[in-house]
Amino acid sequence: NENKSLAVRDVSPAFISIEKNWQFCPIQNYQPDIDINILKCSSITLPGGWEKVSPGYDGFGLLLSYFELTEDYQKKSLGVFIERIRDADKVFINGHFVGQTGEFPPNFDKAVLYSRLYQIPYDILKFDQPNEIKIWVYNDARPGGITHGLPIIGEHVLLQKAFYENNYQAIAFIVVLGVFAVLHLVYFLFHQRTRENLFYAIFLFVWCGYLYTYSNLALSIDVSRTLLFRINIACFFTIFILFPLFIYSFFQQKLPDILKYTLIGISILIPFCFLLPEPYLLYYPLQLVELVALPALIIVYWTLIKAMKAKLPYAKIMSAVLFFYMLLGSIDIMIDFLQSTSLSTVNLHGPWALLILSIVLTLIISHKNLVYYQDATTDKLTGALRKSEFYLRLQQEFFRADRERKLMVVMMIDLDKFKQFNDHYGHILGDRVLKMVASCVSEQLRHFDLFCRYGGDEFCIAATLDNSKEVESFVLRIHQSVNALGFEKKGFHEKIRATFGVALREVNQDISAENLVELADDALISGKQKARGELYWKKSENPAVAVS
Ligand code: GH3
Ligand code: MG
Repeated sequence: NENKSLAVRDVSPAFISIEKNWQFCPIQNYQPDIDINILKCSSITLPGGWEKVSPGYDGFGLLLSYFELTEDYQKKSLGVFIERIRDADKVFINGHFVGQTGEFPPNFDKAVLYSRLYQIPYDILKFDQPNEIKIWVYNDARPGGITHGLPIIGEHVLLQKAFYENNYQAIAFIVVLGVFAVLHLVYFLFHQRTRENLFYAIFLFVWCGYLYTYSNLALSIDVSRTLLFRINIACFFTIFILFPLFIYSFFQQKLPDILKYTLIGISILIPFCFLLPEPYLLYYPLQLVELVALPALIIVYWTLIKAMKAKLPYAKIMSAVLFFYMLLGSIDIMIDFLQSTSLSTVNLHGPWALLILSIVLTLIISHKNLVYYQDATTDKLTGALRKSEFYLRLQQEFFRADRERKLMVVMMIDLDKFKQFNDHYGHILGDRVLKMVASCVSEQLRHFDLFCRYGGDEFCIAATLDNSKEVESFVLRIHQSVNALGFEKKGFHEKIRATFGVALREVNQDISAENLVELADDALISGKQKARGELYWKKSENPAVAVS
Protein backbone atom coordinates (compact mmCIF):
# COMPACT_ATOMS: atom_id res chain seq x y z
CA ASN A 1 0.00 0.00 0.00
CA GLU A 2 2.77 2.30 0.98
CA ASN A 3 4.42 1.84 -2.38
CA LYS A 4 1.42 2.58 -4.45
CA SER A 5 1.84 6.32 -4.52
CA LEU A 6 5.51 5.88 -5.26
CA ALA A 7 4.65 3.57 -8.12
CA VAL A 8 2.27 6.14 -9.52
CA ARG A 9 4.98 8.77 -9.34
CA ASP A 10 7.62 6.65 -11.02
CA VAL A 11 5.60 5.23 -13.85
CA SER A 12 4.65 8.43 -15.54
CA PRO A 13 5.80 12.03 -15.64
CA ALA A 14 2.09 12.82 -15.76
CA PHE A 15 2.09 12.97 -11.94
CA ILE A 16 3.50 15.46 -9.48
CA SER A 17 3.82 14.45 -5.88
CA ILE A 18 3.75 17.39 -3.59
CA GLU A 19 6.70 16.53 -1.43
CA LYS A 20 8.14 19.71 -0.02
CA ASN A 21 7.28 22.69 2.12
CA TRP A 22 4.38 21.19 4.02
CA GLN A 23 3.14 23.20 6.97
CA PHE A 24 0.86 21.88 9.64
CA CYS A 25 -1.31 24.17 11.74
CA PRO A 26 -3.47 22.78 14.57
CA ILE A 27 -6.72 24.70 15.01
CA GLN A 28 -9.41 23.89 17.54
CA ASN A 29 -12.32 24.88 15.30
CA TYR A 30 -12.94 24.68 11.62
CA GLN A 31 -12.64 28.21 10.23
CA PRO A 32 -12.40 28.08 6.45
CA ASP A 33 -11.54 31.77 6.16
CA ILE A 34 -8.95 31.94 8.92
CA ASP A 35 -5.86 34.05 8.31
CA ILE A 36 -2.97 31.58 8.24
CA ASN A 37 -0.50 34.21 9.43
CA ILE A 38 -2.03 34.23 12.91
CA LEU A 39 -1.72 30.45 13.28
CA LYS A 40 1.16 28.61 14.87
CA CYS A 41 2.28 26.31 12.08
CA SER A 42 5.25 24.00 11.90
CA SER A 43 7.06 22.24 9.09
CA ILE A 44 6.05 18.64 8.62
CA THR A 45 7.19 15.85 6.33
CA LEU A 46 4.68 13.82 4.47
CA PRO A 47 3.67 11.05 4.42
CA GLY A 48 3.12 11.13 8.13
CA GLY A 49 0.88 12.02 10.96
CA TRP A 50 0.80 15.24 12.91
CA GLU A 51 1.82 13.44 16.07
CA LYS A 52 5.43 14.15 15.15
CA VAL A 53 4.96 17.90 15.47
CA SER A 54 1.97 18.00 17.83
CA PRO A 55 2.11 14.94 20.07
CA GLY A 56 -1.23 13.88 21.48
CA TYR A 57 -3.13 16.45 19.43
CA ASP A 58 -6.64 15.58 18.23
CA GLY A 59 -9.06 17.74 16.37
CA PHE A 60 -8.78 19.99 13.33
CA GLY A 61 -5.61 20.61 11.46
CA LEU A 62 -4.67 22.51 8.38
CA LEU A 63 -2.06 21.24 5.96
CA LEU A 64 -0.57 23.68 3.56
CA SER A 65 1.82 23.55 0.61
CA TYR A 66 2.47 24.75 -2.93
CA PHE A 67 2.97 23.08 -6.28
CA GLU A 68 3.85 24.30 -9.73
CA LEU A 69 2.35 23.09 -12.97
CA THR A 70 4.15 23.16 -16.32
CA GLU A 71 2.36 24.06 -19.53
CA ASP A 72 2.09 20.30 -20.31
CA TYR A 73 -0.77 20.05 -17.87
CA GLN A 74 -2.70 22.89 -19.33
CA LYS A 75 -5.11 20.97 -21.54
CA LYS A 76 -5.61 18.03 -19.18
CA SER A 77 -8.33 17.28 -16.70
CA LEU A 78 -6.45 17.03 -13.40
CA GLY A 79 -7.21 15.52 -10.05
CA VAL A 80 -5.69 15.34 -6.60
CA PHE A 81 -5.12 11.96 -5.00
CA ILE A 82 -4.27 11.48 -1.34
CA GLU A 83 -3.60 8.05 -0.02
CA ARG A 84 -5.47 7.42 3.19
CA ILE A 85 -6.57 10.12 5.54
CA ARG A 86 -8.24 9.25 8.81
CA ASP A 87 -11.67 10.56 9.63
CA ALA A 88 -12.75 13.58 7.53
CA ASP A 89 -11.12 16.06 5.19
CA LYS A 90 -11.78 18.99 2.86
CA VAL A 91 -9.38 20.00 0.11
CA PHE A 92 -8.95 23.52 -1.31
CA ILE A 93 -6.74 24.57 -4.22
CA ASN A 94 -6.02 28.26 -4.65
CA GLY A 95 -8.80 28.90 -2.14
CA HIS A 96 -11.42 26.95 -4.12
CA PHE A 97 -13.17 23.95 -2.66
CA VAL A 98 -12.15 20.78 -4.54
CA GLY A 99 -13.70 17.93 -2.59
CA GLN A 100 -14.35 16.32 0.76
CA THR A 101 -14.81 12.92 2.35
CA GLY A 102 -16.82 12.66 5.53
CA GLU A 103 -18.22 15.64 7.40
CA PHE A 104 -16.61 17.77 10.07
CA PRO A 105 -18.15 18.07 13.52
CA PRO A 106 -20.83 18.79 14.58
CA ASN A 107 -22.20 16.63 11.72
CA PHE A 108 -19.25 14.34 12.11
CA ASP A 109 -19.41 11.80 9.32
CA LYS A 110 -16.33 9.75 9.76
CA ALA A 111 -14.55 8.03 6.92
CA VAL A 112 -12.29 5.44 8.43
CA LEU A 113 -9.13 5.18 6.43
CA TYR A 114 -9.96 5.81 2.82
CA SER A 115 -7.93 7.23 -0.01
CA ARG A 116 -9.26 10.40 -1.57
CA LEU A 117 -9.53 11.40 -5.20
CA TYR A 118 -11.00 14.75 -6.21
CA GLN A 119 -11.27 16.29 -9.65
CA ILE A 120 -9.78 19.81 -9.86
CA PRO A 121 -11.89 22.36 -11.75
CA TYR A 122 -9.77 23.46 -14.68
CA ASP A 123 -10.15 27.21 -14.29
CA ILE A 124 -8.82 27.42 -10.72
CA LEU A 125 -5.29 26.28 -11.65
CA LYS A 126 -2.37 28.58 -12.44
CA PHE A 127 0.37 27.67 -14.88
CA ASP A 128 2.66 30.62 -14.41
CA GLN A 129 2.91 30.76 -10.64
CA PRO A 130 2.69 28.41 -7.65
CA ASN A 131 -0.68 26.89 -6.73
CA GLU A 132 -1.66 26.69 -3.08
CA ILE A 133 -3.08 23.43 -1.68
CA LYS A 134 -4.89 23.44 1.66
CA ILE A 135 -6.08 20.23 3.24
CA TRP A 136 -8.34 20.56 6.23
CA VAL A 137 -8.36 17.41 8.29
CA TYR A 138 -10.37 16.36 11.26
CA ASN A 139 -8.95 13.45 13.17
CA ASP A 140 -10.39 11.94 16.29
CA ALA A 141 -8.51 9.81 18.78
CA ARG A 142 -6.55 7.49 16.53
CA PRO A 143 -3.16 8.57 15.19
CA GLY A 144 -2.42 8.83 11.52
CA GLY A 145 -4.06 12.21 11.30
CA ILE A 146 -2.69 13.19 7.94
CA THR A 147 -1.70 10.92 5.11
CA HIS A 148 -0.01 7.66 4.28
CA GLY A 149 1.23 8.68 0.86
CA LEU A 150 2.14 12.01 -0.66
CA PRO A 151 -0.65 14.08 -2.16
CA ILE A 152 -0.42 13.68 -5.93
CA ILE A 153 -1.62 15.91 -8.75
CA GLY A 154 -2.11 14.27 -12.12
CA GLU A 155 -4.46 13.36 -14.90
CA HIS A 156 -7.76 12.48 -13.32
CA VAL A 157 -8.36 9.32 -15.38
CA LEU A 158 -4.91 7.95 -14.56
CA LEU A 159 -5.32 8.72 -10.88
CA GLN A 160 -8.65 6.98 -10.98
CA LYS A 161 -6.85 3.81 -11.98
CA ALA A 162 -4.52 4.07 -8.99
CA PHE A 163 -7.46 4.85 -6.73
CA TYR A 164 -9.35 1.75 -7.80
CA GLU A 165 -6.30 -0.49 -7.66
CA ASN A 166 -6.78 -0.20 -3.97
CA ASN A 167 -10.26 -1.60 -4.54
CA TYR A 168 -9.11 -4.56 -6.58
CA GLN A 169 -6.94 -5.66 -3.72
CA ALA A 170 -9.78 -5.30 -1.26
CA ILE A 171 -12.14 -7.14 -3.63
CA ALA A 172 -9.60 -9.95 -3.96
CA PHE A 173 -9.25 -10.24 -0.19
CA ILE A 174 -12.99 -10.20 0.34
CA VAL A 175 -13.63 -12.78 -2.39
CA VAL A 176 -10.99 -15.20 -1.08
CA LEU A 177 -12.10 -14.86 2.53
CA GLY A 178 -15.74 -15.11 1.41
CA VAL A 179 -15.08 -18.35 -0.48
CA PHE A 180 -13.38 -19.83 2.58
CA ALA A 181 -16.30 -18.71 4.71
CA VAL A 182 -18.83 -20.39 2.37
CA LEU A 183 -16.81 -23.63 2.35
CA HIS A 184 -16.73 -23.74 6.13
CA LEU A 185 -20.43 -22.95 6.33
CA VAL A 186 -21.33 -25.68 3.84
CA TYR A 187 -19.21 -28.13 5.78
CA PHE A 188 -21.01 -27.15 8.96
CA LEU A 189 -24.43 -27.60 7.33
CA PHE A 190 -23.54 -31.16 6.34
CA HIS A 191 -21.83 -32.10 9.59
CA GLN A 192 -23.61 -30.10 12.21
CA ARG A 193 -21.49 -31.25 15.05
CA THR A 194 -18.46 -29.35 13.76
CA ARG A 195 -19.34 -26.07 15.40
CA GLU A 196 -15.86 -24.72 14.89
CA ASN A 197 -16.65 -24.58 11.18
CA LEU A 198 -19.69 -22.42 11.91
CA PHE A 199 -17.76 -20.05 14.17
CA TYR A 200 -14.94 -19.84 11.68
CA ALA A 201 -17.32 -19.20 8.78
CA ILE A 202 -18.96 -16.30 10.64
CA PHE A 203 -15.52 -15.06 11.71
CA LEU A 204 -14.48 -14.85 8.04
CA PHE A 205 -17.77 -13.30 6.91
CA VAL A 206 -17.41 -10.58 9.50
CA TRP A 207 -13.80 -10.03 8.41
CA CYS A 208 -15.14 -9.45 4.89
CA GLY A 209 -17.44 -6.77 6.29
CA TYR A 210 -14.57 -5.27 8.23
CA LEU A 211 -12.33 -5.07 5.16
CA TYR A 212 -15.18 -3.70 3.08
CA THR A 213 -15.86 -0.86 5.46
CA TYR A 214 -12.14 -0.22 5.72
CA SER A 215 -11.41 0.05 2.02
CA ASN A 216 -12.20 2.49 -0.77
CA LEU A 217 -14.89 0.07 -1.87
CA ALA A 218 -17.16 1.54 0.73
CA LEU A 219 -16.78 4.97 -0.87
CA SER A 220 -18.41 3.73 -4.06
CA ILE A 221 -21.80 3.35 -2.39
CA ASP A 222 -23.85 6.29 -1.29
CA VAL A 223 -24.08 5.63 2.41
CA SER A 224 -23.17 7.70 5.42
CA ARG A 225 -19.49 7.35 6.33
CA THR A 226 -20.52 7.34 9.96
CA LEU A 227 -22.66 4.28 9.40
CA LEU A 228 -19.71 2.55 7.73
CA PHE A 229 -17.58 3.49 10.69
CA ARG A 230 -20.17 2.08 13.10
CA ILE A 231 -20.35 -1.16 11.09
CA ASN A 232 -16.57 -1.28 11.05
CA ILE A 233 -16.35 -1.10 14.84
CA ALA A 234 -19.22 -3.58 15.29
CA CYS A 235 -17.35 -5.99 12.98
CA PHE A 236 -14.22 -5.54 15.07
CA PHE A 237 -16.12 -6.49 18.25
CA THR A 238 -17.73 -9.49 16.56
CA ILE A 239 -14.40 -10.72 15.23
CA PHE A 240 -13.03 -10.39 18.70
CA ILE A 241 -15.81 -12.54 20.18
CA LEU A 242 -15.70 -15.22 17.48
CA PHE A 243 -12.01 -16.02 17.59
CA PRO A 244 -11.95 -17.51 21.13
CA LEU A 245 -15.27 -19.26 20.45
CA PHE A 246 -13.66 -20.85 17.43
CA ILE A 247 -10.53 -21.93 19.30
CA TYR A 248 -12.43 -23.42 22.26
CA SER A 249 -14.89 -25.28 20.07
CA PHE A 250 -12.00 -26.56 17.97
CA PHE A 251 -10.56 -28.24 21.06
CA GLN A 252 -14.04 -29.05 22.38
CA GLN A 253 -13.29 -27.22 25.60
CA LYS A 254 -15.55 -25.05 27.72
CA LEU A 255 -14.76 -21.35 27.82
CA PRO A 256 -13.27 -20.28 31.17
CA ASP A 257 -15.85 -18.22 33.08
CA ILE A 258 -13.83 -15.02 33.03
CA LEU A 259 -13.54 -15.23 29.25
CA LYS A 260 -17.19 -16.13 28.87
CA TYR A 261 -18.29 -13.03 30.80
CA THR A 262 -15.81 -10.85 28.91
CA LEU A 263 -17.25 -12.02 25.59
CA ILE A 264 -20.81 -11.53 26.82
CA GLY A 265 -19.79 -8.03 27.92
CA ILE A 266 -18.39 -7.25 24.49
CA SER A 267 -21.46 -8.58 22.74
CA ILE A 268 -23.55 -6.20 24.84
CA LEU A 269 -21.39 -3.38 23.47
CA ILE A 270 -22.24 -4.24 19.84
CA PRO A 271 -25.68 -2.54 19.82
CA PHE A 272 -24.00 0.55 21.27
CA CYS A 273 -21.95 0.85 18.07
CA PHE A 274 -25.21 1.88 16.46
CA LEU A 275 -26.88 3.57 19.41
CA LEU A 276 -24.24 6.05 20.57
CA PRO A 277 -25.26 9.43 19.18
CA GLU A 278 -21.77 10.82 18.47
CA PRO A 279 -19.39 8.58 16.54
CA TYR A 280 -16.37 9.72 18.53
CA LEU A 281 -18.02 8.19 21.61
CA LEU A 282 -17.43 4.82 19.97
CA TYR A 283 -13.79 5.18 20.82
CA TYR A 284 -14.56 4.58 24.50
CA PRO A 285 -16.01 1.07 24.05
CA LEU A 286 -13.37 0.48 21.38
CA GLN A 287 -10.55 1.31 23.75
CA LEU A 288 -12.21 -0.72 26.47
CA VAL A 289 -12.32 -3.75 24.19
CA GLU A 290 -8.73 -3.17 23.12
CA LEU A 291 -7.76 -2.97 26.77
CA VAL A 292 -9.23 -6.41 27.54
CA ALA A 293 -8.26 -7.88 24.18
CA LEU A 294 -4.73 -8.84 25.01
CA PRO A 295 -5.41 -10.34 28.45
CA ALA A 296 -8.29 -12.30 26.91
CA LEU A 297 -6.07 -13.64 24.15
CA ILE A 298 -3.47 -14.53 26.75
CA ILE A 299 -6.09 -16.65 28.53
CA VAL A 300 -6.80 -18.43 25.22
CA TYR A 301 -3.07 -18.82 24.69
CA TRP A 302 -2.70 -20.26 28.18
CA THR A 303 -5.32 -22.89 27.36
CA LEU A 304 -3.37 -23.76 24.23
CA ILE A 305 -0.13 -24.09 26.17
CA LYS A 306 -1.89 -26.52 28.49
CA ALA A 307 -3.29 -28.37 25.49
CA MET A 308 0.22 -28.56 24.11
CA LYS A 309 1.52 -30.02 27.35
CA ALA A 310 -1.30 -32.56 27.26
CA LYS A 311 -0.10 -33.36 23.70
CA LEU A 312 -3.51 -32.63 22.19
CA PRO A 313 -3.37 -32.84 18.42
CA TYR A 314 -3.11 -29.44 16.68
CA ALA A 315 -2.25 -27.63 19.93
CA LYS A 316 1.22 -26.69 18.68
CA ILE A 317 0.18 -25.25 15.36
CA MET A 318 -2.84 -23.54 16.88
CA SER A 319 -0.71 -21.81 19.47
CA ALA A 320 1.63 -20.65 16.71
CA VAL A 321 -1.38 -19.25 14.86
CA LEU A 322 -2.64 -17.56 17.98
CA PHE A 323 0.77 -16.08 18.68
CA PHE A 324 0.75 -14.57 15.21
CA TYR A 325 -2.78 -13.28 15.76
CA MET A 326 -1.81 -11.74 19.09
CA LEU A 327 1.17 -10.08 17.47
CA LEU A 328 -1.10 -8.46 14.89
CA GLY A 329 -3.57 -7.50 17.58
CA SER A 330 -0.96 -5.97 19.84
CA ILE A 331 0.44 -3.89 16.99
CA ASP A 332 -3.06 -2.59 16.36
CA ILE A 333 -3.57 -1.82 20.02
CA MET A 334 -0.17 -0.19 20.38
CA ILE A 335 -1.02 2.15 17.52
CA ASP A 336 -3.84 3.50 19.65
CA PHE A 337 -2.05 3.60 22.96
CA LEU A 338 1.40 4.69 21.85
CA GLN A 339 -0.04 7.02 19.23
CA SER A 340 2.50 5.66 16.81
CA THR A 341 2.18 6.45 13.15
CA SER A 342 5.10 4.38 11.98
CA LEU A 343 3.36 1.30 13.39
CA SER A 344 0.20 2.06 11.50
CA THR A 345 2.02 1.31 8.27
CA VAL A 346 2.57 -2.20 9.58
CA ASN A 347 -1.10 -2.37 10.38
CA LEU A 348 -2.00 -1.84 6.75
CA HIS A 349 -0.42 -5.17 5.92
CA GLY A 350 -3.04 -6.71 8.18
CA PRO A 351 -5.18 -8.01 5.30
CA TRP A 352 -2.24 -10.01 3.95
CA ALA A 353 -1.52 -11.45 7.35
CA LEU A 354 -5.18 -12.24 7.70
CA LEU A 355 -5.24 -14.03 4.39
CA ILE A 356 -2.32 -16.22 5.42
CA LEU A 357 -3.98 -16.81 8.77
CA SER A 358 -7.23 -17.91 7.18
CA ILE A 359 -5.48 -20.23 4.75
CA VAL A 360 -3.52 -21.84 7.60
CA LEU A 361 -6.63 -22.21 9.76
CA THR A 362 -8.61 -23.64 6.85
CA LEU A 363 -5.89 -26.23 6.28
CA ILE A 364 -5.83 -27.12 9.97
CA ILE A 365 -9.61 -27.51 10.12
CA SER A 366 -9.70 -29.52 6.89
CA HIS A 367 -6.96 -31.78 8.15
CA LYS A 368 -8.80 -32.33 11.39
CA ASN A 369 -12.03 -33.09 9.54
CA LEU A 370 -10.18 -35.51 7.28
CA VAL A 371 -8.70 -37.33 10.25
CA TYR A 372 -12.15 -37.47 11.87
CA TYR A 373 -13.55 -38.82 8.64
CA GLN A 374 -10.87 -41.49 8.51
CA ASP A 375 -11.47 -42.41 12.14
CA ALA A 376 -15.17 -42.68 11.42
CA THR A 377 -14.69 -44.89 8.38
CA THR A 378 -11.72 -47.11 9.17
CA ASP A 379 -10.84 -49.38 12.05
CA LYS A 380 -7.82 -48.09 13.94
CA LEU A 381 -6.29 -51.47 14.83
CA THR A 382 -6.35 -53.12 11.41
CA GLY A 383 -6.81 -50.22 8.98
CA ALA A 384 -9.78 -52.08 7.46
CA LEU A 385 -13.05 -50.27 6.70
CA ARG A 386 -15.76 -50.02 9.30
CA LYS A 387 -19.01 -51.80 8.60
CA SER A 388 -21.06 -48.70 7.72
CA GLU A 389 -18.50 -47.45 5.21
CA PHE A 390 -18.14 -50.97 3.78
CA TYR A 391 -21.86 -51.23 3.01
CA LEU A 392 -21.89 -47.79 1.49
CA ARG A 393 -19.09 -48.70 -0.88
CA LEU A 394 -20.37 -52.20 -1.56
CA GLN A 395 -23.53 -50.73 -3.06
CA GLN A 396 -21.35 -48.59 -5.36
CA GLU A 397 -19.31 -51.66 -6.30
CA PHE A 398 -22.51 -53.52 -7.36
CA PHE A 399 -23.21 -50.69 -9.75
CA ARG A 400 -19.67 -50.75 -11.12
CA ALA A 401 -19.64 -54.55 -11.45
CA ASP A 402 -22.88 -54.49 -13.47
CA ARG A 403 -21.57 -51.78 -15.77
CA GLU A 404 -18.37 -53.72 -16.38
CA ARG A 405 -20.25 -57.06 -16.45
CA LYS A 406 -18.20 -58.57 -13.66
CA LEU A 407 -18.88 -61.04 -10.88
CA MET A 408 -18.84 -59.90 -7.32
CA VAL A 409 -17.50 -62.12 -4.59
CA VAL A 410 -18.01 -61.57 -0.86
CA MET A 411 -15.89 -63.48 1.62
CA MET A 412 -16.55 -63.63 5.34
CA ILE A 413 -13.56 -64.65 7.48
CA ASP A 414 -13.74 -65.63 11.16
CA LEU A 415 -10.72 -66.67 13.18
CA ASP A 416 -11.06 -70.07 14.84
CA LYS A 417 -11.11 -70.40 18.61
CA PHE A 418 -9.89 -66.91 18.97
CA LYS A 419 -11.40 -66.49 22.41
CA GLN A 420 -9.25 -69.36 23.60
CA PHE A 421 -6.29 -67.82 21.89
CA ASN A 422 -6.84 -64.59 23.78
CA ASP A 423 -7.27 -66.44 27.04
CA HIS A 424 -4.07 -68.31 26.48
CA TYR A 425 -1.76 -65.69 25.01
CA GLY A 426 -3.40 -62.45 26.15
CA HIS A 427 -5.21 -59.73 24.24
CA ILE A 428 -2.09 -57.84 23.19
CA LEU A 429 -0.89 -60.82 21.22
CA GLY A 430 -4.47 -61.34 20.02
CA ASP A 431 -4.42 -57.82 18.62
CA ARG A 432 -1.17 -58.56 16.87
CA VAL A 433 -2.74 -61.59 15.23
CA LEU A 434 -5.69 -59.50 14.04
CA LYS A 435 -3.23 -57.03 12.50
CA MET A 436 -1.25 -59.84 10.94
CA VAL A 437 -4.34 -61.32 9.32
CA ALA A 438 -5.48 -57.89 8.12
CA SER A 439 -2.15 -57.05 6.52
CA CYS A 440 -1.88 -60.53 4.96
CA VAL A 441 -5.29 -60.04 3.33
CA SER A 442 -4.91 -56.41 2.29
CA GLU A 443 -1.54 -57.10 0.65
CA GLN A 444 -3.32 -59.38 -1.79
CA LEU A 445 -6.14 -56.98 -2.62
CA ARG A 446 -6.28 -54.42 -5.40
CA HIS A 447 -6.86 -50.84 -4.31
CA PHE A 448 -10.54 -50.91 -5.31
CA ASP A 449 -11.35 -54.16 -3.49
CA LEU A 450 -13.16 -53.68 -0.20
CA PHE A 451 -11.85 -54.99 3.07
CA CYS A 452 -13.77 -54.52 6.27
CA ARG A 453 -13.43 -55.48 9.91
CA TYR A 454 -16.92 -56.80 10.34
CA GLY A 455 -16.75 -57.58 14.05
CA GLY A 456 -14.28 -58.71 16.70
CA ASP A 457 -12.44 -61.46 14.85
CA GLU A 458 -14.52 -61.29 11.69
CA PHE A 459 -13.40 -59.73 8.42
CA CYS A 460 -15.24 -59.32 5.17
CA ILE A 461 -13.83 -58.92 1.66
CA ALA A 462 -15.67 -57.83 -1.46
CA ALA A 463 -14.06 -57.96 -4.90
CA THR A 464 -15.16 -57.75 -8.53
CA LEU A 465 -13.70 -60.36 -10.88
CA ASP A 466 -14.06 -61.30 -14.53
CA ASN A 467 -15.18 -64.92 -14.34
CA SER A 468 -15.73 -67.83 -11.99
CA LYS A 469 -12.25 -69.18 -12.60
CA GLU A 470 -10.68 -65.98 -11.38
CA VAL A 471 -13.04 -65.93 -8.44
CA GLU A 472 -12.02 -69.41 -7.43
CA SER A 473 -8.30 -68.78 -7.55
CA PHE A 474 -8.71 -65.46 -5.76
CA VAL A 475 -10.70 -67.00 -2.93
CA LEU A 476 -8.40 -70.00 -2.58
CA ARG A 477 -5.30 -67.84 -2.57
CA ILE A 478 -6.54 -65.73 0.31
CA HIS A 479 -7.84 -68.71 2.24
CA GLN A 480 -4.50 -70.49 1.92
CA SER A 481 -2.37 -67.50 2.79
CA VAL A 482 -4.35 -66.69 5.94
CA ASN A 483 -4.26 -70.30 7.06
CA ALA A 484 -0.52 -70.41 6.43
CA LEU A 485 0.05 -67.67 9.03
CA GLY A 486 1.56 -68.45 12.37
CA PHE A 487 4.00 -67.17 14.95
CA GLU A 488 6.55 -68.33 17.53
CA LYS A 489 5.87 -67.80 21.18
CA LYS A 490 7.86 -69.25 24.08
CA GLY A 491 9.32 -71.84 21.74
CA PHE A 492 5.88 -72.93 20.45
CA HIS A 493 4.84 -72.54 16.89
CA GLU A 494 1.22 -71.48 16.91
CA LYS A 495 -0.76 -71.70 13.68
CA ILE A 496 -3.50 -69.24 12.88
CA ARG A 497 -6.68 -70.74 11.54
CA ALA A 498 -9.70 -69.08 10.01
CA THR A 499 -12.93 -70.31 8.49
CA PHE A 500 -14.19 -68.72 5.26
CA GLY A 501 -17.74 -68.27 3.99
CA VAL A 502 -18.08 -67.15 0.38
CA ALA A 503 -21.04 -65.88 -1.63
CA LEU A 504 -21.15 -64.89 -5.26
CA ARG A 505 -23.21 -62.28 -7.05
CA GLU A 506 -23.87 -62.71 -10.76
CA VAL A 507 -23.98 -59.73 -13.13
CA ASN A 508 -27.24 -57.78 -12.62
CA GLN A 509 -28.40 -60.16 -9.89
CA ASP A 510 -31.10 -58.52 -7.83
CA ILE A 511 -29.75 -58.83 -4.29
CA SER A 512 -28.99 -56.24 -1.64
CA ALA A 513 -25.52 -55.75 -0.20
CA GLU A 514 -26.76 -56.90 3.23
CA ASN A 515 -28.30 -60.07 1.79
CA LEU A 516 -25.15 -60.95 -0.10
CA VAL A 517 -23.05 -60.57 3.05
CA GLU A 518 -25.66 -62.58 4.96
CA LEU A 519 -25.28 -65.45 2.46
CA ALA A 520 -21.52 -65.50 3.01
CA ASP A 521 -22.10 -65.37 6.77
CA ASP A 522 -24.59 -68.26 6.59
CA ALA A 523 -21.99 -70.33 4.76
CA LEU A 524 -19.44 -69.45 7.43
CA ILE A 525 -21.71 -70.22 10.41
CA SER A 526 -22.95 -73.52 9.08
CA GLY A 527 -19.41 -74.36 8.00
CA LYS A 528 -18.01 -73.71 11.50
CA GLN A 529 -20.39 -76.38 12.79
CA LYS A 530 -18.92 -78.89 10.32
CA ALA A 531 -15.17 -78.27 10.33
CA ARG A 532 -13.20 -75.12 11.18
CA GLY A 533 -10.46 -73.70 8.97
CA GLU A 534 -12.21 -74.61 5.72
CA LEU A 535 -13.68 -72.62 2.91
CA TYR A 536 -17.47 -72.80 2.35
CA TRP A 537 -19.28 -71.59 -0.75
CA LYS A 538 -22.81 -70.43 -0.93
CA LYS A 539 -24.23 -69.48 -4.29
CA SER A 540 -27.58 -67.77 -3.92
CA GLU A 541 -29.59 -70.85 -4.79
CA ASN A 542 -27.27 -73.68 -3.68
CA PRO A 543 -26.70 -74.73 -0.07
CA ALA A 544 -23.25 -74.33 1.44
CA VAL A 545 -20.71 -76.88 0.17
CA ALA A 546 -17.19 -77.44 1.42
CA VAL A 547 -14.64 -77.24 -1.36
CA SER A 548 -11.17 -77.89 -0.10
P1 GH3 B 1 -14.99 -69.67 16.75
O1 GH3 B 1 -13.96 -70.60 16.23
O2 GH3 B 1 -16.30 -70.31 16.94
O3 GH3 B 1 -15.08 -68.42 15.98
O4 GH3 B 1 -14.50 -69.34 18.20
P2 GH3 B 1 -14.08 -67.92 18.73
O5 GH3 B 1 -13.45 -68.11 20.04
O6 GH3 B 1 -13.25 -67.22 17.73
O7 GH3 B 1 -15.49 -67.25 18.90
P3 GH3 B 1 -15.98 -65.82 18.36
O8 GH3 B 1 -15.55 -65.65 16.96
O9 GH3 B 1 -17.43 -65.77 18.65
O10 GH3 B 1 -15.26 -64.87 19.32
C1 GH3 B 1 -14.53 -63.78 18.92
C2 GH3 B 1 -13.48 -63.48 19.95
O11 GH3 B 1 -12.59 -62.53 19.43
C3 GH3 B 1 -14.02 -62.89 21.21
C4 GH3 B 1 -12.95 -61.97 21.68
O12 GH3 B 1 -12.21 -62.54 22.73
C5 GH3 B 1 -12.02 -61.84 20.50
N1 GH3 B 1 -11.89 -60.45 20.09
C6 GH3 B 1 -12.83 -59.66 19.56
N2 GH3 B 1 -12.29 -58.43 19.30
C7 GH3 B 1 -10.98 -58.48 19.66
C8 GH3 B 1 -9.92 -57.53 19.62
O13 GH3 B 1 -10.05 -56.38 19.18
N3 GH3 B 1 -8.70 -57.94 20.08
C9 GH3 B 1 -8.52 -59.19 20.58
N4 GH3 B 1 -7.30 -59.55 21.03
N5 GH3 B 1 -9.51 -60.09 20.62
C10 GH3 B 1 -10.73 -59.76 20.17
MG1 MG C 1 -13.94 -66.58 15.86
